[in-house]
Amino acid sequence: MEKLDKIYEGKAKILYTTNDPDLVIQYFKDDATAFNAAKKGSIDQKGVINNKISTKIFEMLQSRGIKTHFVKQLNEREMLVKKVSIVPLEVIIRNRAAGSLCRLLGLPEGTTLACPILEFCYKEDKLGDPMITEYHIRALNYATDQEVEKIKTMVFKINDAMKEFFAALNIELIDFKLEFGRYKDEIILADEISPDTCRLWEIGTGEKLDKDRFRRDLGNIEQAYQEVLRRVSR
Ligand code: ADP
Ligand code: UDP
Repeated sequence: MEKLDKIYEGKAKILYTTNDPDLVIQYFKDDATAFNAAKKGSIDQKGVINNKISTKIFEMLQSRGIKTHFVKQLNEREMLVKKVSIVPLEVIIRNRAAGSLCRLLGLPEGTTLACPILEFCYKEDKLGDPMITEYHIRALNYATDQEVEKIKTMVFKINDAMKEFFAALNIELIDFKLEFGRYKDEIILADEISPDTCRLWEIGTGEKLDKDRFRRDLGNIEQAYQEVLRRVSR
């Protein structure tokens, strides 16, 4: 597979075209941002770790029949993926209250939820990815009703698979963000799934093994990411 031109450089990853028009390379950087890029920094080895963790999770999801953009891991920092047209939504699923949900509703961190919460945000950095409803999606044509139904079905299947996968590693999946793309008339899971995009708490100790260590300057950030990698690799 030949790596050709850089087509996009984002906050955490770079995309390159390849000699196959249907495939692109995702290069994982060490750069880290939080609070809509107001806080910037870098986490040593993060790109390598997140590439490997994402690979493991995409493989696990594919083995359970969930279609993803993942084709194969190419090397330490690069993953070959199907080139999609990204649906401009960040889909968040929450199993326990944390982060922006606590700020929105004044809840203590860790509040139990009677059922998972699914949130849609409009993916637009300039606006800080505002939360929207299915009516906004329909009224503004961000996705068709059929696409939204497909995404919702996939999200709950992915949540069940990921909760079970992490629980077996003694980790509770608190919340996470997904992105979907259009590929040849299909909706498939895209982007990455890593401690940058999930909240992961160790069962028993409640220790945070995710980007909140960076957001809140809790220290041992690389160690926490490495610990997640060690567990998903066993
Ligand atoms: P951001 O754009 O938020 O700074 P990243 O640094 O992670 O995020 O950049 C990766 C970009 O690539 C994101 O905008 C994401 O939506 C997009 N993307 C992820 N997977 C694919 C794919 N398979 N095809 C095309 N674009 C993708
Ligand atoms: N998230 C993400 N990218 C974003 C926003 C959120 O990966 O642009 C993830 C975040 O890591 C967490 C979940 O989505 O696992 C819910 O985030 P929340 O809305 O609580 O926002 P935050 O507390 O990060 O402001």
